[in-house]
Amino acid sequence: MAFASLIQNKRLWIVALLLAAVAVPYVLRFFPGTVTPPPTPTEPEPRVQVNVPPFNADSAFYFVEKQVSFGPRVPGTPAHQKCAAWLAGEFRRLGLDVVEQPFVAKTYFGPRDAVNIIGQYHPERVNRVLLCAHWDSRHMADKDSKDVDKAILGADDGGSGVAVLLELARMLQQHPIEGIGVDFVLFDAEDLGDDRSETGQSVMMQASNEQKTLTWCLGSQYWARTPHRPGYTAQFGILLDMVGARGALFPREGYSAQNAPALQNRIWAIAQELGYGGFFVDRFGGFITDDHVFVMRGLRIPMVNIISIPNPPPAAFGAHHHTHQDNLDIIDRNVLGMVGHVVATVLYRTAAGAL
Ligand SMILES: [Zn+2]
Repeated sequence: MAFASLIQNKRLWIVALLLAAVAVPYVLRFFPGTVTPPPTPTEPEPRVQVNVPPFNADSAFYFVEKQVSFGPRVPGTPAHQKCAAWLAGEFRRLGLDVVEQPFVAKTYFGPRDAVNIIGQYHPERVNRVLLCAHWDSRHMADKDSKDVDKAILGADDGGSGVAVLLELARMLQQHPIEGIGVDFVLFDAEDLGDDRSETGQSVMMQASNEQKTLTWCLGSQYWARTPHRPGYTAQFGILLDMVGARGALFPREGYSAQNAPALQNRIWAIAQELGYGGFFVDRFGGFITDDHVFVMRGLRIPMVNIISIPNPPPAAFGAHHHTHQDNLDIIDRNVLGMVGHVVATVLYRTAAGAL
């Protein structure tokens, strides 16, 4: 994943909270004559019991291992092509309708062949849920102290989100749901952006912030302009990015909080209910430029990014981020299992009309 404009936006966030605090007493004063009747005791509404199948974290771990075994999945390389063929094949094996969407990623260092891979569960159903992750891995290790110009394996940054989605697709095959369709969208070329302009090492030094932002998330930018089905929409979307590393922590990402607050509240409440409140922490985690931003901008689908941000700004991401430590050793199957359990619960409750 991309970069965080944390400090500046954190200030905005604090201002927004202060404004909200001022607004509440104002609204209360606006209706001085309103008398609140005492609450009538009612039976608590019976919660619809929804059976959520167990999420197999070992299988998810295998899916990370398999992706990493191809080597770095950098657009334009043979490893990338082989992994693309494997991903599309897995989706087909799991009974999904597959669309491979090739495009030329116009990176800041030149054009590269890329492909978004979409697996559709019951494409005929109108009511849909969108589940996304990026499947490419970064072309450089710009936060490492050595081999900076070599591509990283991206076990967590890329591999983990895809692995959880593959395991959810396997779950749907074994335990079908009614009522909703699901689209698994694996974005390519998320992680080819420029992150060195501030240190003076980049050709992007003179570019505007917006131009720098647009160097990231090329697959989701393409898909948001050209979805695999014209007029595509979904009830909501969830993006998984860096959801597999030891020490992961999931505070609330800012753009999701801004644009999909109700969904974010539901997801964090479910995590709490399932006993993961110590990981899905109830605090602000910064604004992260990631694929969900472009889907929300382009298609107006509310989306929440579940992304590990274990550190305060400016570090934000885990120490392995964009280094060669982002390999299989960093992956903790318990973290994959926890995120899988949360998203599966969201999915099966949505299908049962009980989200
Ligand atoms: Zn990244």
